[in-house]
Amino acid sequence: MPELPEVEITKQGIEPFLLGQTIKQFTVRNRKLRWPIPVKLHQTLQNLVIQAVSRRGKYILIDCTVGWLIIHLGMSGSLRVLTSKEETASKHEHYDINLNNGMTIRYRDPRRFGALLWTNKDPEKHRLLTNLGPEPLHDVLNGRFLYQVLRKKSSPIKIQIMNNHIVTGVGNIYANESLFHAGIRPTRQANRISQVRLERLSDAIKKTLKRAIEVGGSSLQDFYQTDGTTGYFQQEYKVYGRTGEPCHTCKTPIKRVTLGQRSSFYCIVCQT
Ligand SMILES: [Zn+2]
Repeated sequence: MPELPEVEITKQGIEPFLLGQTIKQFTVRNRKLRWPIPVKLHQTLQNLVIQAVSRRGKYILIDCTVGWLIIHLGMSGSLRVLTSKEETASKHEHYDINLNNGMTIRYRDPRRFGALLWTNKDPEKHRLLTNLGPEPLHDVLNGRFLYQVLRKKSSPIKIQIMNNHIVTGVGNIYANESLFHAGIRPTRQANRISQVRLERLSDAIKKTLKRAIEVGGSSLQDFYQTDGTTGYFQQEYKVYGRTGEPCHTCKTPIKRVTLGQRSSFYCIVCQT
């Protein structure tokens, strides 16, 4: 599933092709994504100039001068850049945005949990975005902030940092990895962690996400390859998916528990 680093890399990958371009044509082959693609979107988008591409949480926002496209990659979505629209779309490729520079941005999503929506109001106020917590890479996320928001939260810390209202875009992989780097057990009660340790956790979240973006950045050329598996990357994880394998620090077998229906991995010695 695309997590925040993949979404950021997608944003960085498509941005140079989109900026300043006029939308020539928008083609939908299947509007049934998580929410249906608006019926008249091809008319709305015709001849609009793209001013900016940004990201909020796991949403990509394309500023089309008079409104914004809001894109979510869902469980299996990806965007890639084609140098012409000649290449025939496969059955999982649901829409194309053709630009006046001859490029086409094509969306592929086998499971169709993604979204493509339009708003002509401030996208930050859109119902999907308005309640999102701070961006994990911004200074707003720090130990003090976490300490404040978690003071009355007695559920496990991992569930809290994966809650988009607390901090946005920390998915399962990065929650597990960040907690390992911070030495905090995923099951630890959120309101029983000191501000110092939460500072360590916010640093670990930033570091883990930044590192993933760096690693993924080297696969940016994939955005204009043809296999549709754009830019996603495998990394070496410290705990994620390593049940029973030795901890890289102390050799103790990594333990797996289920929290909020998600697999959680940790070292019983290094994480307390
Ligand atoms: Zn260990």
